[in-house]
Amino acid sequence: AKESGRNQMIVYTEELSSKVKQNYNLSTNLRKAIERNEFSLHYQPQVDLRSGSVIGVEALIRWNSPEYGMVPPGEFIPYAEESGLIVPISKWVLKEACLQLMKWQAQRFPTLVMSVNISAQQFRSAGFSKWIKSVLDETGVDPNLLCLEITETTAIQDMEHSVQMLKEIVHLGLYIAIDDFGTGYSSLVLLKRLPIHMVKIDKSFIRDMSGDQDDAAIVKAVIAMSHSLGLSVIAEGVEGREQLEQLKTLECDYIQGYYLGKPMPSDAFTAYIQSYSKD
Ligand code: C2E
Ligand code: CA
Ligand code: CA
Ligand code: CA
Repeated sequence: AKESGRNQMIVYTEELSSKVKQNYNLSTNLRKAIERNEFSLHYQPQVDLRSGSVIGVEALIRWNSPEYGMVPPGEFIPYAEESGLIVPISKWVLKEACLQLMKWQAQRFPTLVMSVNISAQQFRSAGFSKWIKSVLDETGVDPNLLCLEITETTAIQDMEHSVQMLKEIVHLGLYIAIDDFGTGYSSLVLLKRLPIHMVKIDKSFIRDMSGDQDDAAIVKAVIAMSHSLGLSVIAEGVEGREQLEQLKTLECDYIQGYYLGKPMPSDAFTAYIQSYSKD
């Protein structure tokens, strides 16, 4: 299936509204999922291409529902946004990710950076930065070790709000990455106007990079442009050695993808990073 961030979102929303009509219980089940402890976070490593070491980790939510089994986030996050349940779910995600990061920090990984996905609804709410601040205070996590991933589509929706909100977030000491970069519009304006640190090139470009000259050219241009604006670049969806080598040649800073490690439970990630730092 063709994958573009925007189209994907629309398809999921349509699929879900029909599913929701079929099953009135989804809302109730999603509502209960937090108290019933059905959510968990999986963690995917992010590697520095120069040093080859694991420098960061992205937290990805998983819902293990007794009614539906494992529900991928692409299916329930859009619904959670529509229903407002995204608020308590996001709160749980951020807090859980912070607590896990503090555990890793206290172990042998004091500089590991945790990336957390921020939904459009959340980001657009007026109290967003206050909310982030309250989780920082509650958990005591070092804000310098936290990165918020905001999609390009979310960021361009209301530029005034985005600029202001991101300024407040950066002031708190967090990093900002633009997720799914290249799938929305106005990319250049975005990079110029927003106080961000990192560009995350969408996996659709990385997937086709080795076979498709156009995708390779886009990846090359995004990396060069980001660097000249003082931004770091991470490529997502790296699935093979060839892509890794190509990205290295293009001087991409960081990579993430199945080739390095799939998203995994926290214990597996601890074992992964321990064995990884030994070689
Ligand atoms: P995303 O933020 O773009 O996350 C990357 C997705 O690509 C993840 O899917 C990840 O498992 C997958 N992926 C990683 N490496 C590879 C690879 O090498 N090849 C391929 N084909 N895919 C790879 P996942 O975990 O199913 O998440 C899907 C989306 O759901 C995320 O896309 C994000 O938009 C959303 N999401 C996940 N967790 C959260 C969360 O805690 N909060 C919010 N608001 N959204 C979340
Ligand atoms: Ca995507
Ligand atoms: Ca992400
Ligand atoms: Ca992405």
